[in-house]
Amino acid sequence: MCPANSTILIVEDEPSQREVLAYNLAAEGFSLSEAETGDDALILIDEVMPDVIILDWMLPGVSGIEICRRIKTNPATRDIPVIMLTARSEETDRVRGLETGADDYVLKPYSVKELIARVRTQLRRVRPASVGQLLEFEDIALDPESHRVTRADQQIALGPTEFRLLATFIEKPGRVWSRDQLLDRVWGREVYVDTRTVDVHVGRLRKALCRFGGSDPIRTVRGAGYALG
Ligand code: CA
Repeated sequence: MCPANSTILIVEDEPSQREVLAYNLAAEGFSLSEAETGDDALILIDEVMPDVIILDWMLPGVSGIEICRRIKTNPATRDIPVIMLTARSEETDRVRGLETGADDYVLKPYSVKELIARVRTQLRRVRPASVGQLLEFEDIALDPESHRVTRADQQIALGPTEFRLLATFIEKPGRVWSRDQLLDRVWGREVYVDTRTVDVHVGRLRKALCRFGGSDPIRTVRGAGYALG
């Protein structure tokens, strides 16, 4: 369903609420990370670099607001959308929530369906291919819905791994991806694959994209990884 895995981090101290959310998000095809406390969340955010964070306001230890503030003041994490959950309904709290830079705000008790819709709204902004949006880079076009790739209007046949690789690259042209990041994104964190496998598949993708001519759009960045453009 998703051309490239989207990872959602759930930060919620109540096990039953966390489980319900995790169950429903997994059923929609998302990869998940879960944290019970703010401290755990901060460590996980660094490790996993989730695509969206669902953050409970009331947490033991470091509060949800403080976590949000730290995410939004760190240049490495400030672009990760944060959806705040809270049982409070006062307008002042709502404003405070948004002032910390939260991208969205959902009141408890919430409908899981509605929350998942909000997650998709955030993904549409930061991971457009994962929600089916047509993406283009120069003369290359990728349609996640039909799994079709064209270059200069010629259809390019790609294997599933090469397709997910290109989807990852084309969402963020210019971004340099390390081999480990590509492994997480394209193969998933649960799968053991050697980093050299990444080189093999990038090689295949390059060959496919240049089949009908045109320059190689993928850049090898020495000691760092790969980038599109
Ligand atoms: Ca809580």
